[in-house]
Amino acid sequence: MPKFITDACIACGSCQAECPVDCIIEGDIYVIDADLCIDCGACADVCPTGAIEDK
Ligand code: SF4
Ligand code: SF4
Repeated sequence: MPKFITDACIACGSCQAECPVDCIIEGDIYVIDADLCIDCGACADVCPTGAIEDK
């Protein structure tokens, strides 16, 4: 299952820097491209607000 970013995102960018497949898209809140995410969990480990969840 791909990960999903909730509206708890504060757009800090930390997750994007960690993603090995570059599937996190910058925005007002960040968005994960579910077709590319390999569910490695690296993004969730660094998110300061716990905004990244299993879909
Ligand atoms: S779980 Fe891994 S592959 Fe999926 S968005 Fe997060 S860092 Fe990228
Ligand atoms: S690390 Fe968390 S708060 Fe920061 S951009 Fe990613 S989802 Fe948003």
